[in-house]
Amino acid sequence: MSELRRDPISGDWVAFAPERSRRPHDRETGAGRPVCPFCPGNEHMTPPELERVAGVEPGEWLIRVVENRYSAFRPDQERSRTGPDPSGFARRPARGAQEVVIESPDHTAAFSAYPPEHVAHVFGVYQRRLRALSARPGVSTVTIFRNHGAAAGTSLAHPHSQIVASNAEPSTCRLDRTALGQGCPYCSMLDTERKAGERVLLQSDGFVTVLPFASQWPFEVWILPVVHQRSFAQAGECEIRAVAAATQRAA
Ligand SMILES: [Zn+2]
Ligand SMILES: [Zn+2]
Repeated sequence: MSELRRDPISGDWVAFAPERSRRPHDRETGAGRPVCPFCPGNEHMTPPELERVAGVEPGEWLIRVVENRYSAFRPDQERSRTGPDPSGFARRPARGAQEVVIESPDHTAAFSAYPPEHVAHVFGVYQRRLRALSARPGVSTVTIFRNHGAAAGTSLAHPHSQIVASNAEPSTCRLDRTALGQGCPYCSMLDTERKAGERVLLQSDGFVTVLPFASQWPFEVWILPVVHQRSFAQAGECEIRAVAAATQRAA
């Protein structure tokens, strides 16, 4: 079973999920191209479908959302180990959900080469799942992420992204709330960056792409709305298209 363990130094909750090490990896499956559970025709190999964007032909799909078979977060996590660890460190069950967005029927499609309409569809799916998952009781954070390449932790090559809804709150969210007492830190940062102009990569359709002053990673980029918005869940259709386009250009 999975659980959240609190790092006694940073105070952050860390997902501890030993069963995820059993998830399948492309590179572990013998000679030749492995059977891909995300390719059309293999829909029976995935857990139940939660949503799909249909194609033109009957039965054809452009995007599918399925449960993650190797999810660290479940709505009904076992209650057997909910008390403190015998050592005294804090832990609690990892509750929530983990979903996979199969972004394309094409096994070899590259995100940077998707048609703009398709990127907008993918971001529309992100928003619908964000709204649905954040309405669930006990969910405090929804994280949407996409690993690219084996070095980033991708276990299957077929283009996909992941959504995690959890009862853990990253430290950045806690800091955001504290800082909000003095005004929005993102708007303030964006204002400074636009005045400096040195690290602004792109400005279009109400979004600004910046290389943050204190990047934690090489090639880190932030895409921020010019007009303050609390959540991507509230973005309108034009904004979804704009942020999708900005993300694709940054990729
Ligand atoms: Zn595939
Ligand atoms: Zn703001």
